[in-house]
Amino acid sequence: MKEELAKAYDPKETEGKIYRLWEEGGGFQPRTKNSEQRTYAIHLPPPNITGSLHMGHALNATIADILIRYHRMKGDKTVWFPGTDHAGIATQNVVEKQLKKEGMSRWDLGREKFIEKVWEWKNKYGNIIIEQLKKLGASADWSRLRFTMDENYANWVKKAFIHYYEKGLIYRGKRIVSWCVACQTSLSDLEVEYKEESGKLWFIKYPIVAPTPRGRSDNYVIVATTRPETMLGDVAVAVNPKDKRYKNLIGKKILLPLQNREIPIIADDKIDMIFGTGAVKVTPAHDLLDAEIGERHKLEPIDIIDERGRMTAAAGEKFKGLKVAEAREKVVRELEEAGLLEKIEDYKHNVAICYRSGTVLEPLRSNQWFLRMVDHPQNPKSIRQSADKNQKLGTSLRDAVLNAVKSGKVKIIPENFEKILFSWLENIHDWCISRQIWWGHQLPVWFHEPKCIPKKGHESDVVKCKEMVVAVEKPQCEFCDAEFKQSEDVLDTWFSSALWPFAGLSEADLKDFYPSNVLITARDIINLWVGRMIFSGLEFQKAMPFPEVLIHATILTKEGKRMSKSLGTGIDPLGLIEKYGADATRFGIIWQTMGTQDIHWDEAAVQAGKKFANKLWNIARFSLMKIENSKFKIQKLKLQVKIQNNEDRKILQKLDEVKKIVEKNINSYEFGPALHALYDFIWHDFADKYIELVKDRQDEEADLVLQHALFSILKMLHPFMPFITESIYQKIGLEKKDLLMIESWVD
Ligand SMILES: [Zn+2]
Ligand SMILES: [Zn+2]
Ligand SMILES: [Zn+2]
Repeated sequence: MKEELAKAYDPKETEGKIYRLWEEGGGFQPRTKNSEQRTYAIHLPPPNITGSLHMGHALNATIADILIRYHRMKGDKTVWFPGTDHAGIATQNVVEKQLKKEGMSRWDLGREKFIEKVWEWKNKYGNIIIEQLKKLGASADWSRLRFTMDENYANWVKKAFIHYYEKGLIYRGKRIVSWCVACQTSLSDLEVEYKEESGKLWFIKYPIVAPTPRGRSDNYVIVATTRPETMLGDVAVAVNPKDKRYKNLIGKKILLPLQNREIPIIADDKIDMIFGTGAVKVTPAHDLLDAEIGERHKLEPIDIIDERGRMTAAAGEKFKGLKVAEAREKVVRELEEAGLLEKIEDYKHNVAICYRSGTVLEPLRSNQWFLRMVDHPQNPKSIRQSADKNQKLGTSLRDAVLNAVKSGKVKIIPENFEKILFSWLENIHDWCISRQIWWGHQLPVWFHEPKCIPKKGHESDVVKCKEMVVAVEKPQCEFCDAEFKQSEDVLDTWFSSALWPFAGLSEADLKDFYPSNVLITARDIINLWVGRMIFSGLEFQKAMPFPEVLIHATILTKEGKRMSKSLGTGIDPLGLIEKYGADATRFGIIWQTMGTQDIHWDEAAVQAGKKFANKLWNIARFSLMKIENSKFKIQKLKLQVKIQNNEDRKILQKLDEVKKIVEKNINSYEFGPALHALYDFIWHDFADKYIELVKDRQDEEADLVLQHALFSILKMLHPFMPFITESIYQKIGLEKKDLLMIESWVD
């Protein structure tokens, strides 16, 4: 039966139908062919359930889909594992906003009800981004869709925590964190935003305990601060040892005003001699940098601000219970009255604020859980130095990542992004993995009720009660009837994402597809995610999770600015799909992906993609009319058949060349050049020249070559433009055919 192609290609009319055809035909599932078959697997970086598709996702998914479709056609047992991330704080935030509209907070609901609400929300909206990926043509195996809070996945998370704990790598300690008083949680660096503030710089006179004989100027050290209230928690004044002004004062003591405590003057070469007066107050409990100074000099921190943002008893009787802002006023007033305020200057500076509530963050020490990253936290050696000198690296998680990258067990492409990873590792701190929010993986940590309830006749045993147990299931006290209560903290979302290459996979999939073949990701999460997946994979699967990490380009605006929804500079890939079709959108993205250069987005490339789709459609339409469609044969053209005609020989030769270019470029992740080569061949060599030449030929050879070339073009273009190529293929009047997406690659 002869079926003609419609006059023009209509992506809107076609794409949905084609996608259903693929899905219903089981095209996305891995196919077993034989035991020697190679496997090919990619894991989709799990987008947040709160997410919607942006250009970065679209680029990432298009690249992955090209690789997946290519390897599938090459005959590999291929699978693309999709999934979503529960995105602790982001999701909690969205649901809380919704509650707020109803005039409620999560506290009104209580933890359990609130979590139910979040699940409701997730079930309703959490897969929007998955549907969007389908619109783009992503051929992921949706029957393997995972979620980082699935039961199976959650079990892995608990297992990982317990494993690290039992190995002595997880510990509990007081650490300075960026604390949000409004959200009552500590925030990760990623969640901290900065805002410029016109503040003040207060210059405070700190009297020296034993005045030097040189006169008045030496009776004081003047320190400058943007936060005078924190002086109540000062434990030292630090100066740079090279600073001549203070040389003679090092080792002397200060009588801390208002507190009447003696504190030392110490030397630390990290002190900036230019800032303020060159002498700085050190408040290790309430400043991240001061905490480091404090650690170096073994100074005991004094907590003067609590988690509600109020002054503690350690701040002194006069200040206890005041809010930070009130304490600031009072401290300044009292210093002024005591004649200890030298001057006040206007000062513009950046303050850290909560990404969510906009509240100014309070650095303070709270009880947190940490995953140990380095062997000797007291004495972290320079990594580059130790690696360059071939010194033996330790067995810490940090060193595991370092070893893997240095030894080439994992290759980062392009190579220069290794530097980002190295500098992160060099400056790494133990990872604070606990968060004080509700949505997430609750720690498998159980606390004994404070009060023991001894069993009859066992009153003396209660001294043996364990205060804390780390276990999957709720423990029962051996010695009394008191209950264990689970820790209210949840794990940092990255703790669960770090397990993504294996957590929740079936045994069979782990056997077949671990490690995966390549991880494709954006550069901004190299540390947060890639580094952590590497040590997790080594720790739990005893093998690298992937041999290669492809860091893709960043799509910027045409002017080279960051794309951002909130700045209004973002481009919605779904808008492009709606307007031009998914193939044209993919074409436009890949067309501009040349090397590792950031892309200065130009919609003209998508328009070119649309034109190209129409051109291809016309080529196919002509070909199918010329060769009677019913005569179209699936058997591959045997190229050993003697080709008589010179122009036939030429086009077949060109076809073979372009095939090699496409393969080489896909294998080396040069997707733009692959597409450019295909485009040039199809448009210029095939359409402009060859088709013109064969138009009036009636011989069998012409038809044979034409159909072979068309078929090859459809196959090679399929990974880039899957919908239109499949759509044309489905119109070809072959006797027996399946789906183009599972056809074998051009041979
Ligand atoms: Zn907050
Ligand atoms: Zn007990
Ligand atoms: Zn640029």
